[in-house]
Amino acid sequence: MRCPFCGNIDTQVKDSRPAEDHVSIRRRRFCPACGGRFTTYERVQLRDLVVIKSSGRREDFDRGKLERSIRIAMQKRPINPERIDQMISGIVRRLESLGDTDIPSKVIGEIVMETLARIDTVSYVRFASVYKNFQAADDFDKFVSELRPAASSEE
Ligand SMILES: [Zn+2]
Repeated sequence: MRCPFCGNIDTQVKDSRPAEDHVSIRRRRFCPACGGRFTTYERVQLRDLVVIKSSGRREDFDRGKLERSIRIAMQKRPINPERIDQMISGIVRRLESLGDTDIPSKVIGEIVMETLARIDTVSYVRFASVYKNFQAADDFDKFVSELRPAASSEE
């Protein structure tokens, strides 16, 4: 699993345990290259969601990407990691229950912003400010790279 911080491919699993009432396995990972710590989940995917980008391009929905953007927006915020996990699962469940497996990227962004707004204003503002550019660029990697300096400027 590639390190989300430095891109190193050789990361280590520190701990695996069931999470969220045993619907997934939570793995804590460590990157020996940069010291970064992150968590991955292994779960059954009931429905294959497809993201429709504003360009019309279709892409398989990737929970990891969604999770990464949310975690970066919430970096160093005083919010329990379990709460963040629940929040992300809640967002995915909402997406899965929209009734259509094809979901415009705009809808995903709006659901994330709506959820963040309820939980943490600072994270919401971080996410929303970058999201505006993201809609124009429609490029997730760019989105994340723009989020990161904003999130770390408060260190
Ligand atoms: Zn790393």
